[in-house]
Amino acid sequence: MTTTESFALAFDTTPSPARRADAEREAILADPKFGAKFTDHMVTISWSEERGWHDAVVKPYGPLSLDPAAAVLHYGQEIFEGLKAYRWADGSVWTFRPEANAERLQRSARRLALPELPEADFLAAIEHLVRIDADWVPSAPETSLYLRPFMIASEAFLGVRGAHEAEFHVIASPAGAYFAGGVRPVSIWLSQDWSRAGRGGLGAAKTGGNYAASLLPQAEAYEQGCQQVLFLDAEERTYVEELGGMNVFFVYADGRVVTPALGTILEGITRSSVIRLAEERGHVVEERRFSIDEWRAGVESGDIVEAFACGTAAVITPIGRLKARDFEIGAPDSDPGALTMSLRDELTGIQYGRLPDHHGWMRRLA
Ligand SMILES: *Cc1c(COP(=O)(O)O)cnc(C)c1O
Repeated sequence: MTTTESFALAFDTTPSPARRADAEREAILADPKFGAKFTDHMVTISWSEERGWHDAVVKPYGPLSLDPAAAVLHYGQEIFEGLKAYRWADGSVWTFRPEANAERLQRSARRLALPELPEADFLAAIEHLVRIDADWVPSAPETSLYLRPFMIASEAFLGVRGAHEAEFHVIASPAGAYFAGGVRPVSIWLSQDWSRAGRGGLGAAKTGGNYAASLLPQAEAYEQGCQQVLFLDAEERTYVEELGGMNVFFVYADGRVVTPALGTILEGITRSSVIRLAEERGHVVEERRFSIDEWRAGVESGDIVEAFACGTAAVITPIGRLKARDFEIGAPDSDPGALTMSLRDELTGIQYGRLPDHHGWMRRLA
């Protein structure tokens, strides 16, 4: 349970005997959608209290073998990450701020009483998988290979305590352009009945339980003709928190940018990158409580001119309309805001190597 082990693990590789043929892979890459198809390999690292992290392997993609009493199946002791591998015009493959994902996985691990994987092993796991499955990184505009590291409590024990055995895995899935045919503003539904996370809960950890809590409200959003759900703080149901899997930003006419403060929300790497890019352009960025009434009044008076959501999967998504039980803000067919689109272009420009990386955010994988 330490982050300071100085030697990275050595990985054993077993190449898949059933690699997809070039034609089959190319057919998948031509229309990958999101999270539906997976590459030929995966990475697994085991952990036990006695041995620490051990047995790091690259192996054929396939089902896990778990004891039916494995703690994750009963008590939800699970955490995950999400990042992308991008193919640049010269054919090389890069990822964006993976050290931040490694650190966040460690923070999530602490909260979920799971072991912390050293950053060097996290980075090595991703490098090994992307190198062996490099042909799976698509090259069409705005496509990527989505990487999904995750950790589960695998100990067969129904007693309630942190498990003494865990597994870390990484799988990879080619991802198409999120907005095929141009970026379109989304409609979001305000969840006034359900909360995602409470003070002192799991909101700041990237864990499946937060997503489980969001699925019923997300289904309500669909029923309301909206694509996403917006959560408020659990205590007062007054302050904007985030969407089910994306952080939110508001842009004022005077150039100020506001985003909800950390605490019960997930600290997005896209969020922190957007804050940095906006500040470098001279915007004042306020991380603070932001009430739904401030949003309503700001849009009505013309003080708030843009709203957007952000996360690794969709990068930056303009919010066109907020729908609540008894009011609406914005319109579904509103144009994406100028700052929203320009930050989106800058961020994707850095990620795809079209713009210089002044921050040292990109790391070459292959
Ligand atoms: C992963 C995630 C985000 C976005 O984080 P990024 O690091 O920007 O991808 C936002 N909210 C939740 C709940 C998340 O799980």
